[in-house]
Amino acid sequence: MKIVEADVIVTCPGRNYVTLKLTTDDGIVGYGDATLNGRELAVSAYLTEHVVPLLIKRDANRINDTWQYLYRGAYWRRGPVTMTAIGAVDIALWDIQGKALGRPVYQLLGGAARDGVMIYGHASGATIDETVADAARFLEAGYLAVRVQAKIPGLDATYGIRTGSGLTYEPAVGDLPTEEVWDTAAYLDFAPRLVAATRDQLGFGFHLLHDAHHRMTPLEAGRLGKSLEPYRMFWLEDATPAEDQAAFRLIRQHTVTPLAVGEVFNSIWDCQTLIGERLIDYIRTAVPHAGGITHCRRIFDYADLYLPLRGRPVAPDGRARPRRRLRRIRGAAVPVPAAVPAGEPVARRLNARLVDPGRVSALRCRRTR
Ligand SMILES: [Mg+2]
Repeated sequence: MKIVEADVIVTCPGRNYVTLKLTTDDGIVGYGDATLNGRELAVSAYLTEHVVPLLIKRDANRINDTWQYLYRGAYWRRGPVTMTAIGAVDIALWDIQGKALGRPVYQLLGGAARDGVMIYGHASGATIDETVADAARFLEAGYLAVRVQAKIPGLDATYGIRTGSGLTYEPAVGDLPTEEVWDTAAYLDFAPRLVAATRDQLGFGFHLLHDAHHRMTPLEAGRLGKSLEPYRMFWLEDATPAEDQAAFRLIRQHTVTPLAVGEVFNSIWDCQTLIGERLIDYIRTAVPHAGGITHCRRIFDYADLYLPLRGRPVAPDGRARPRRRLRRIRGAAVPVPAAVPAGEPVARRLNARLVDPGRVSALRCRRTR
């Protein structure tokens, strides 16, 4: 089963989504998500210029070998662009394998372990009252977990605040990123009040989360975590810049608030110390950004030895899912979808964005031999 065609497709009005489409000589098509938010065209170029030529005529059955070939074969290893490109190939090859065998990929990986997944809603607002009301909307809609973020008084803008009236959080802001002024002292004063008001008004009957967006020093993070302990957080996310894994030792010394991190990680080496020393409670590496199913499975198997759970929004863009998806949910963890069923979620989700060609700005790169 040889790969005979590889397409890199960049599309979607308002933001970019990147899809790698691999076709085999017996007509099986596999899709891989190559979307690296904010750096989509870098992955597209990496795939088109450096990876696609290596794939043509390669045996699509050799998933692990292809992963090692792309990772070890290049002089430059790791990094979000490289690992997202490798991840897209890996996901597409698993997709092909599942279709070739007529089995969902999760079955090839050992079978289902859960009947559903718990997800959280992104509640936010311009004030504490607005945010609490927004969180209440999610709870009324059936969500079991809610993340609260609010505009910090005195600052012109605060990252992570949802715009519009819907329940969907869209982090993409347009062609150029905005520049914001940050004030840690104001944040450290405000965040505990936001969390306290949420618990005071909505109670403890749901999981409460908060994202610090890597903006604190380790000592500040320890102080915030300690101040949040009475409110029984599900997790405090991205407490401090995560490239310094040892910094989490300092946070751990000062608080028992559960810690989650990893959305910007792209390899097992980024979280080796964090997991091995039990410095975090949730590892949030994303399958497309951390080398695909093959490499993320390695991270999760490693995490299983030390307890950190796998936490990640179900959708790669962080979009919330409604009540009907929650009715089947059991358990308390927020797991990563450990497997992509053959051809189903990935292909359908991405193809759904290819509608309305008149509005689509598409860059299509194709390489065949
Ligand atoms: Mg985060």
